[in-house]
Amino acid sequence: MESARIASFVEVDLDALTHNASVLRRLVPEGGKLGGVVKGNAYGHGLREVLPAVHPVVDVLYVVTAQDAWWIRSWESRVGAPRREVLVLGVLSPEEVVRCGREGVSVVLSDGGFEAHARAVAAAGVSVDAHVHLETGLSREGLWADRLAADLSWLAQVGPAVSIRGALMHFADVEDVTEQDWALHQLSHFERGVLALEALLADQGRPTQLVRHAAASAAAMVLSASRLDVIRPGISLYGLWPSRETRISARMVLGDLPPLRPVLSWRVPVQAVKDVPTGQPASYGCTWIAPRPSRLAVLPVGYFDGFPRRAGNRAQVLVGGRRCPLVGRVMMNHLLVDVTEVPSVQHGDLATLIGRDGDAVVSAEALAEAADTIHYEIVTRIAEHVPRVPVGGSSASGAPG
Ligand SMILES: *Cc1c(COP(=O)(O)O)cnc(C)c1O
Repeated sequence: MESARIASFVEVDLDALTHNASVLRRLVPEGGKLGGVVKGNAYGHGLREVLPAVHPVVDVLYVVTAQDAWWIRSWESRVGAPRREVLVLGVLSPEEVVRCGREGVSVVLSDGGFEAHARAVAAAGVSVDAHVHLETGLSREGLWADRLAADLSWLAQVGPAVSIRGALMHFADVEDVTEQDWALHQLSHFERGVLALEALLADQGRPTQLVRHAAASAAAMVLSASRLDVIRPGISLYGLWPSRETRISARMVLGDLPPLRPVLSWRVPVQAVKDVPTGQPASYGCTWIAPRPSRLAVLPVGYFDGFPRRAGNRAQVLVGGRRCPLVGRVMMNHLLVDVTEVPSVQHGDLATLIGRDGDAVVSAEALAEAADTIHYEIVTRIAEHVPRVPVGGSSASGAPG
């Protein structure tokens, strides 16, 4: 490990990631595929750093931006890796869709119009593979089954420029409940939508064998009917459970809990150690006042780096393998931690904001709870300027500098 780091950094355990992928692969039905969602800078883990580990162990990569898709294609050609199926879930410009056609990247047809994109692809003389996002109850970007003919009326005119390869949906509620009524309702809508789509394609003499995919992490684990042809886990690939409810449901449905291992740790060297007398306030607003002679560790990390300001006076940080309370408000570039119980702490010692130190653990979930949010938000908001440091098996062949 580099010793010269002076501010916070994220450790990315590539062995844990590979392990999680193999755990998730056991959920894939016979003949099906394992997808991996790497949107949001790979859930804050760093797309560049995780790609060398994720790429070999999944069959499909899901991104939200065209830039991420280009990055994957350029990485593949640089290291001589085979081209993976890459699907862009997000909004694209017509120019980006043309480039997707050229680079063999698949796109999603969703609510919001695709006609101009399709015409641009046809005009460029290329062809793009597309998956249709069907609306089933999230009320987000899916197309309604009974409006497919109208919404895709342009399809007949663009010929082979757009090939419909698959259909997808996204669940609204699986991770928030232990009864899956709404998810099952969504799934039956999806089945109807796929039939409608296949009928429309057959009318145009197009192939009708569609790849169907619906399940993100929670559904893949607790709703076997949703696994279909491809599963699309994101959060669980990084070793985090979608929610407490999913963990409860998984115990009921699967018997054993899939043994996920968190991939990310967030650490920061102690900048200074400061002794303060009883009655001395700390941090902005003087919201914390030393109840006894106290020793504080100053950590050079704050909300600019993505540490949630809401967690002030509430979160815990590991120092010297012990849980220490964060005191006072979170500042832009600093946190203060009460290390009175760990008197040996010195400048340069590593504090852990998320992760393990000895026997003690602060989970992303715990930090999320202290900040009134969910761990998805905590990890994806770790700022891009925070270095990601791959550790474990494949990191030697890993990220370019
Ligand atoms: C983010 C996302 C996923 C992955 O969700 P997780 O809960 O992180 O597994 C899957 N599919 C779509 C369409 C998504 O937007």
